[in-house]
Amino acid sequence: MADGADGGPRAGVAGGRAPAQAPERAMWCDERFDFQATFLQCLAKHVPNIYSAEMDPLLEKQEEMVQAAILYPLECYLFGEDPDIFLEKLQQSGTSQLCGKVFKGGETTYSCRDCAVDPTCVLCIDCFQNSIHKNHRYKMHSSTGGGFCDCGDTEAWKAGPLCTKHELGSSNSPKENSECQLNEEIMEHSRRVFPSVIKYIVDMLIWEEEKELPPELTVSEKVDSYYCVLFNDEHHSYDHVIYSLQRALGCELGEAQLHTTAIDKEGRRAVKAGHYASCQEAKEEIKRHSENVSQRPLHVEVLHADVMAHQKFALRLGSWLNKLMSYSSDFRQIFCQICLKEEAGSEKPCFISKLMLWDAKLHKGARKVLHELIFSSFFMEMEYKKLFAVEFVKYYKALQKEYISDDHDRVLSVTALSVQMFTVPTLARHLIEEQNVITTITETLLEVLPEYLDKNDKFNFQGYSQDKLNRVYAVIYDLRYVLVSKPTLWTDRLRERFLEGFVSFLRILTCMQGMEEIKRQIGQHIEVDPDWEAAITIQMQLKNILLMFQEWCACDEELLLRAYRECHKAVMRCSTNGRSREKTVFHLCGHTLESRPYRVSADPVSIHLPLSRTLAGLHVRLSKTGAISRLHEFVSPEEFQVELLVEYPLRCLVLVAQVAAEMWRRNGLSLISQVFYYQDVKCREEMYDKDIIMLQIGASLMDPNQFLLLMLQRYELADAFKKIKPTKDQDLIKQYNILIEEMLQILIYVVGERYVPGISNVTKEDVIMREIIHLLCIEPMAHSAITKSLPENENNETGLENVIDKVATFKKPGVSGHGVYELKDECLKDFNMFFYHYTKTQHSKAEHTQKKRRKQENRDEALPPPPPPDFSPAFSNVVRILNCDVMMHILRTLLQRAVELETHLWTEAMIQMVLHLLSLGLLEEKQQLQKSPEEEVSFDFYHKATRMGSSALNAVNVLMLLEKLKRVPQLEAQKDTVNWILQMFDTVKRLREKSSLTTVAAASASEATKGDESTQDKEKAERKRKAEAARLHRQKIMAQMSALQRNFIETHKLLYENTLEAQGKEDAIMEEESMSSAIDYSRIALGPKRGPSVAEKEILTCILCQEEQEVKLESAAMVLSACVQKSTALTQNRSRIPELPGDTLDPLFMHPELPCGTHTGSCGHVMHAACWQKYFEAMQLNFRQRLHVEQIFDLENGEYLCPLCKSLCNTVIPIVPLQAQKINSEDAEAVAQILSLARWLEIVTVRISGYSVKNTKGEKQNLPAFTNKGMGNSALEFHSILSFGVQSSAKYSSSIKEMLILFATTIYRVGLKVAPNEADSRIPMMTWSTCAFTIQCIENLLETEGKPLFGSLQNRQHSGLKALVQFAAAQRTTSPQVLIQKHLIRLLGVLLPNFKMEDTPSLLEVDMFHILVGVVLSFPSLYWEDAVDLQPSSISSAYNHLYLFHLTTLAHIMQIVISSATESSTACSPDNSEEAQSAQSFCREVCQYTSGCFSQDIPGWFVWDCVKKGIMPYLRCAALFFHYLLGVSPPEELLQDSEEGHFKALCSYLSLPTNLFLLFHEYWDTVNPLLQRWCADPMVLSCLKGKSIAIRYPRKRNHLIELPEDYSCLLNQASQFRCPRSSDDEQKHPVLCLFCGAMLCSQNTCCQELVNGEELGACTFHALQCGAGVCMFLKIRECRVVLIEGKTRGCLYPAPYLDEYGETDPDLKRGNPLHLCRERYWKLHLLWQQHCIIEEIARSQETNQIFFGFNWQLL
Ligand SMILES: [Zn+2]
Ligand SMILES: [Zn+2]
Ligand SMILES: [Zn+2]
Ligand SMILES: [Zn+2]
Ligand SMILES: [Zn+2]
Ligand SMILES: [Zn+2]
Ligand SMILES: [Zn+2]
Repeated sequence: MADGADGGPRAGVAGGRAPAQAPERAMWCDERFDFQATFLQCLAKHVPNIYSAEMDPLLEKQEEMVQAAILYPLECYLFGEDPDIFLEKLQQSGTSQLCGKVFKGGETTYSCRDCAVDPTCVLCIDCFQNSIHKNHRYKMHSSTGGGFCDCGDTEAWKAGPLCTKHELGSSNSPKENSECQLNEEIMEHSRRVFPSVIKYIVDMLIWEEEKELPPELTVSEKVDSYYCVLFNDEHHSYDHVIYSLQRALGCELGEAQLHTTAIDKEGRRAVKAGHYASCQEAKEEIKRHSENVSQRPLHVEVLHADVMAHQKFALRLGSWLNKLMSYSSDFRQIFCQICLKEEAGSEKPCFISKLMLWDAKLHKGARKVLHELIFSSFFMEMEYKKLFAVEFVKYYKALQKEYISDDHDRVLSVTALSVQMFTVPTLARHLIEEQNVITTITETLLEVLPEYLDKNDKFNFQGYSQDKLNRVYAVIYDLRYVLVSKPTLWTDRLRERFLEGFVSFLRILTCMQGMEEIKRQIGQHIEVDPDWEAAITIQMQLKNILLMFQEWCACDEELLLRAYRECHKAVMRCSTNGRSREKTVFHLCGHTLESRPYRVSADPVSIHLPLSRTLAGLHVRLSKTGAISRLHEFVSPEEFQVELLVEYPLRCLVLVAQVAAEMWRRNGLSLISQVFYYQDVKCREEMYDKDIIMLQIGASLMDPNQFLLLMLQRYELADAFKKIKPTKDQDLIKQYNILIEEMLQILIYVVGERYVPGISNVTKEDVIMREIIHLLCIEPMAHSAITKSLPENENNETGLENVIDKVATFKKPGVSGHGVYELKDECLKDFNMFFYHYTKTQHSKAEHTQKKRRKQENRDEALPPPPPPDFSPAFSNVVRILNCDVMMHILRTLLQRAVELETHLWTEAMIQMVLHLLSLGLLEEKQQLQKSPEEEVSFDFYHKATRMGSSALNAVNVLMLLEKLKRVPQLEAQKDTVNWILQMFDTVKRLREKSSLTTVAAASASEATKGDESTQDKEKAERKRKAEAARLHRQKIMAQMSALQRNFIETHKLLYENTLEAQGKEDAIMEEESMSSAIDYSRIALGPKRGPSVAEKEILTCILCQEEQEVKLESAAMVLSACVQKSTALTQNRSRIPELPGDTLDPLFMHPELPCGTHTGSCGHVMHAACWQKYFEAMQLNFRQRLHVEQIFDLENGEYLCPLCKSLCNTVIPIVPLQAQKINSEDAEAVAQILSLARWLEIVTVRISGYSVKNTKGEKQNLPAFTNKGMGNSALEFHSILSFGVQSSAKYSSSIKEMLILFATTIYRVGLKVAPNEADSRIPMMTWSTCAFTIQCIENLLETEGKPLFGSLQNRQHSGLKALVQFAAAQRTTSPQVLIQKHLIRLLGVLLPNFKMEDTPSLLEVDMFHILVGVVLSFPSLYWEDAVDLQPSSISSAYNHLYLFHLTTLAHIMQIVISSATESSTACSPDNSEEAQSAQSFCREVCQYTSGCFSQDIPGWFVWDCVKKGIMPYLRCAALFFHYLLGVSPPEELLQDSEEGHFKALCSYLSLPTNLFLLFHEYWDTVNPLLQRWCADPMVLSCLKGKSIAIRYPRKRNHLIELPEDYSCLLNQASQFRCPRSSDDEQKHPVLCLFCGAMLCSQNTCCQELVNGEELGACTFHALQCGAGVCMFLKIRECRVVLIEGKTRGCLYPAPYLDEYGETDPDLKRGNPLHLCRERYWKLHLLWQQHCIIEEIARSQETNQIFFGFNWQLL
């Protein structure tokens, strides 16, 4: 409502308005009157009148009345002068320096990664374009609506808080200045006006009486006039509402749609007016019907007309205030003061709080006005924003509860404003200190979730409601906003409040600690997978909040310790499990462990332990800050109970191990998913990683042997390491093996994973670098893939950019694919095979890659762990578990099992881990020895490992076992590692033996290598020899394979043509060479000097049955798969699309603008016609049963996928062999003596007139009028044409004929969009037309790609074109010859001087190349005789072709001359060549015939230049056409891509003089009448007079539209886009047509078009016009290209924009700056010009079945 009024022509407070109504103005101006009473009186009087016509309002009229009766007087009073003048003044004085633009959904927002304080700080597009951040690392995103631009907010930006626009605004009017703009009188008036206005708005918005108004607004004569009002909700769909309305009110679909749209937009609408009873009845009806459809009834109310009117006006006043706010800071401040004023002594909330609390009850339109008002007032004044925030937090709980039960989206809730306040650092601090906001939020969180608490006060989300939880997440987000910037300054109060908030937050974690426990299912599989998503999602949401709490705590030592104590208490309170059980004792190698029994496999276990993990997090921070030394002051050692702390995380890790061992198979997928997320990058920081840390804490504080015993017991492996013969149960053994592997892995992590600040002395950068190194050790990766694999911090940053260049180099992408990072060589040494964030697959991939690399470098394959950084002091004890007794026992036991070949009791992976642990131990000892004197190093791994396992006779030590291990055949792959370890033993031994530290280090380095030199050398040599042998072997195999391949290719030659293009060329050249040496043949295609056809024998292989066959006229047909489509690829005028329906269209003449042609393409694959038919039928049968496949291709229309390459095809071209012809040039020269052009013309004319005489007897025909001009000899008669040589027509096999008809019918059907009709007279026309058009397309493509005319076509193009031209020549024989003659006569009408037909189009309205193809192909029909089927002999043909071509060429030159005559002649420098002179004299002639219209002054050189340039495409097309028709080899020059000699060669090939004007000269007498006729054409004359414009030659080559370099320019354009059809300001989906540049409003009902009773979306509709159904669009907001074809097919394609990492960004998910990639855009261009869009769509739909659901029709 307010929107509608705002959008009207009188928008704004200061708009034009009706003249003031004098009496009222006078009354209002009286200083003594009671403003409030007068104001209300005025409203009571006018409002019901103005808004009386609710059902069918005249919005403009309404607005006029509002202005005149209420707003204008009100403003006069407020300002004390004419409002227009006043506001003008005020506006000039400048506005706020805050931008404050409120975003609508879908609008693009920009953030700066360098300068924004947090990612919620955004700029609008205008501010961004004018800001310094434009050149920073910015991000683009789509707004969800409701946010606002932070330009000008100094707290939001570290730098550049103001754009140049707003900087200007603020400098122009210094603050004091604009503050003082309003004089005291106006301020006084505002203080009087605002309260009444605000009170009225508030009262009316929260008014609940249906029938009554407040007494002061009630008018005396109350009428019985009511409305039935329907409200919007998110529960009912559009269609539901329409249905209910239609049923309940009995209204038309259109009306119901109108109502529904309005309801959706404004939130409510009156759907019926009348007496109370009838409205009440309608209300019940609507409720009843809507309830039927979807259980819940629609919200309907019956309101009195006056109530409705006042509520409406209240909103209008709201937007009036909103506008007013933007004029002056004083207005804003006064407004805010009044809104915040509490009634003295009353508990009632102030105005603004009242509205906030009422927000969830308001309808959509009212909410929008309210929120905008808050934005434009409170949020523009920092001081009042703070006061507003205080009110907001005061009612926070109530507001959130309202929101959670609300049925509107979050953008429409006042709670969504939280982000605007909580993310402002000073405001957040204030709210924590003064309003205890952390506690408030956490308490709210607990209060809104009571139904999810079970009897133990733990959360349980079984059967949760997704919608409700989504709303709860909003509260969690608020917590995140408050914590996002860490305070730099701590006050006591802040510390206390924060700690209070933290304790409150621990209460939530307590409810989560151990929630959703699970128990292993034994025997039966669980019936239903339990819900797990909710709990995991909350974990994800909490991840960063947990981290932020820990960070905040770590700001201050005291705080950290106190928080630790609280957290420790909370953990202890939760660790009660199993206390009732008696302790049991476990012995192993002399050590004992007392513990309470617990088994993960039998007792309940939970994956959710946020309390334990928070404690672990605080613990490492204690260690990092050193505060750990004071821990005992806060938690006494007796209380500490480290075993209990470790217990729960350990259980969780054991659960993961047991799941890996498939022990939990029967618990279903839900558990698998939980375990996945537990270790996934989205959760692991606050789950898995912290559990490992907790184990490290345990290992550092517990006795190492006890720790290991605890591990063994919890892994349920106590028995596995005892000497008792274990079970024979194979499954159990397998289980044991996996559990042992899992446990060893965790032990490796506990000892080796030290990349956590606090555990060792590393920085965050080190940690990220290590993550990246390990990712890149798997394979080179794209930037986005790396980002996705790294955890994000609270600002959505991974820190990747800061370090990536230190560890990797960037490799740019090609035309497809994306750029990747490759690891630098020097980083390879840091590779740790047992990196704890590797998944199992990543682990083995990385191991494989690294081993392969080492092998290639001819190095050993040992991959020992890199030396880890030192533990920090608090964790230094962890290493003791490496050399404790239990560890030695474990290692020895496993090695022994491997050596003793008890194959089933060990695995290679297990031994790898044992070796890794050994390496870690040795590395540790070595490092310690190198740092301190030997006697101080107590870590004695070497000693322990070389000690015997027992006192028994056969006892062994680790070292001995290792030696034996080398001989275990299954462990061949580990040999290098074992060797490495043995060397390490040696090194450590030496270090131990040397007493002096300095010499030790040096010696160990040199001697370690020296000592092993001999063995190393030997092994190296051996390795080399093996590598060499392997290489030779590979070579041999390769040779064999390629031999096989060659044979295979020979037998399947056609299948492989594409790959063998290069080779094919060579063959051709060789062939040519051999020929040219044999006979010196002419390379002229036309006339008496015609060269021979080079018709090679064609043997093709059917791709279906693999049989070969020679192509012959009389054999069964072979066919080429083909696709016929309409195309506008060459159009010169996109707005000119013939609208004629297909059944009346006459396609004989093509318009020179080439608006729409029929293109025939082929993938080049050959089949037997019979095989293809079988294939097609089988497919039809098969796919009839599978419904969805029909969407890929339309079987009804003959579509199928090529059996070999899966291209979309809709027909086949029969392959007709070229009839080789060769003429005897002497004979031909002889004929030339008699057969001049004049003579030839006579003969043809006589022949035609003869036919006409014959034909007129029967039917009535459009007869040419014959003139006798130039016909001297009357001795010629009907049969003269035959005397220059005839031969019998080719006899095609019936199968070829059948295919000729089939293909011709397809062209006809597709090209004209009509039902197939084999007998239609237009079939031959369409055949010639597609032949000409396809040649033109190919010529165009070759030119734009800069390729030579011949020899550079892709194979598929070549074979397609060859087949098409031969087909087009042969098609004639399947049509009645009379029909062909009829078409021929009409075509000749344009060219022949001596007859004229009525419907001959003007010379300027035909495309000459189309005519050439038509006349050449139809000409043989003149040889047709009743009795015998004849065709011209080679010599006759040669002359026919020559003269027909010369005539069309003359006509085309004429076209060029006429169209260029009107151009200005500045293009090039004049010359005086022979050609220029001929042109000059030609022009003089033409001038005569045009009665002076053709200017004589046009310089000859200019005309020649125009002709030479303009005729090229035509000549090139003609050369292609005659080459494929006759098979005459073209001159060499045309096979090269240099322009030089091109024109000459073309002329020579086509028997033209290079001085083209000589043609006229030569044939002057014959051509003269023709010239006169052409020139007399009214259209030509009008063009020469400049009255109409003829097409220019050469025609322009079409390109996809120019796109801007920077993608944000496009987004800018899109943001300015307004839908042409609807005026609402809702966001649209702007889509750009890449063919013509039109911007469309897609996927929106406003721009749908009705075509043949079907609703088409704007894009689909546009495609019909612009691309004949096939089109290419760029969806701007989504940054994707869409290809569509027809109404049902389309696909997405990556946009040609790349970020700096060479990646595309569909849907702008990552939001990096994007730049145009020319190569990719060119690729799209080629896709279009090669007519491969349809193919691309079919291919993509085949692979991507997701898009089947999409309704392309409505795009
Ligand atoms: Zn802005
Ligand atoms: Zn700005
Ligand atoms: Zn910046
Ligand atoms: Zn076959
Ligand atoms: Zn194919
Ligand atoms: Zn377009
Ligand atoms: Zn639209």
